[in-house]
Amino acid sequence: MTAEETEKTKKCDCEDTQRHFLNRAFETLRLDDAQRNLLLSSFRETLISIPLKVRRNGIEMLRTFTGFRVQHNHARGPFKGGLRYHPASNLNEIRALAQLMTWKTALVNIPYGGAKGGIAVDPAELHADELEVLTKRFTQKMRPLLGVHQDIVAPDVGTNPRVMAWILEEYSKAHGYTPGIVTGKPLELGGSEGRLEATGYGVATITRQAAADHGLELNQARVVIQGFGNVGSHVAQRLADLGATVIALSDARGGVLCESGIDVAAALAHVRENTWLEGLPGTETISNAELLELPCDILIPAALESVIDCDNAERIRADMIVEAANMPITHQADDILRERGKIVVPDVLANAGGVLASYYEWVQNLQEFPWERDTVFYRLEERLLRTYGEVHRLAAHKGVDMRTAAYELAIHRVSEAIRLRGF
Ligand code: NAD
Repeated sequence: MTAEETEKTKKCDCEDTQRHFLNRAFETLRLDDAQRNLLLSSFRETLISIPLKVRRNGIEMLRTFTGFRVQHNHARGPFKGGLRYHPASNLNEIRALAQLMTWKTALVNIPYGGAKGGIAVDPAELHADELEVLTKRFTQKMRPLLGVHQDIVAPDVGTNPRVMAWILEEYSKAHGYTPGIVTGKPLELGGSEGRLEATGYGVATITRQAAADHGLELNQARVVIQGFGNVGSHVAQRLADLGATVIALSDARGGVLCESGIDVAAALAHVRENTWLEGLPGTETISNAELLELPCDILIPAALESVIDCDNAERIRADMIVEAANMPITHQADDILRERGKIVVPDVLANAGGVLASYYEWVQNLQEFPWERDTVFYRLEERLLRTYGEVHRLAAHKGVDMRTAAYELAIHRVSEAIRLRGF
């Protein structure tokens, strides 16, 4: 590859990756250009500026943040998707993530469309009261677009149940108490049992099934996880409970490695005390780049997108990669991994437990009837394994990879809904 080609490849963003994956499925579904264009277009893209006064060292400063909400498709139900707070958030990224939500909700067959939002902000740079004002201003400006049967928000990178509570409060000022406007909210405000753990729990459920299908028992498996936030920490905990040996973990500061296995409960306690994993007793420090290339059975990227690209795909040594994060593998890297015989369990399936549990939370809110924790996990696991089975069978039947099979199922459902509605 020439230097120019390498540079061009590096610039590949999530949108390129998404389009490339979709094109594979479009081919097998034989959709024409007009149908493809419709499926790729966002219903609505909104960009707002949010002014905020912050006080540092006694000096007041005005800062202006950019907020986004992309509503991709609502043929199958209200728009649904997370809200991300990250300094590098931008419209292209949010657009690609909104699309992914459309396919994910269709794949697990719940009555939602797809959306995603974000604010280009590092939440760690703001005090809690500033973040609250920023969140409430975002909600004020986006309020006309939101609604329990219109667009429902959830947590994503950099946001959490507390942020959801602020959105609920701001939205409810105009509409009366409306818990169903957000999912992933605190239990005290109508949140669901199990929602916090659901994405990670679901990733672990799918990982166990995919491993078993390839002759690997979890209690024999050595696992590496990138990202120790909501998703990564709960995957780590659940896989450890299922008998796997978690040998490495990381966060934005870097990674920790212990060949004989990390005590995940101790890692959680360490992060509660010290914010970061670094300095976890009994581990050695490694970089995030080194972590991805460790020899192991299962690698689980659970942080950000595009961390496995054409630069490091040749050096990935895990046999199986389970995408807990959204779009952690670029399309070029996906091709390389496939050629190298690696098993990739795609995000659209692997992390769908999050939106499934969000759907269960919304249903409980609409019915004003909370479910027991066991009911949530029973339904989550049952639906995820059923979906996994559908994807696995289609992939085997058509001789395609799991991602293409998952997209085929999802795209077919969305295009059928569009056809039936007649718009
Ligand atoms: P989070 O903010 O709770 O955690 C993110 C983690 O990644 C943190 O440990 C952070 O330190 C780490 N991180 C940030 N930048 C990093 C970098 N450059 N290198 C390595 N680690 C880095 O976010 P989350 O909710 O756990 O989401 C993680 C991923 O899972 C995202 O791709 C998100 O879109 C996806 N996801 C989340 C949910 C959900 O329910 N929260 C559902 C589906 C998919």
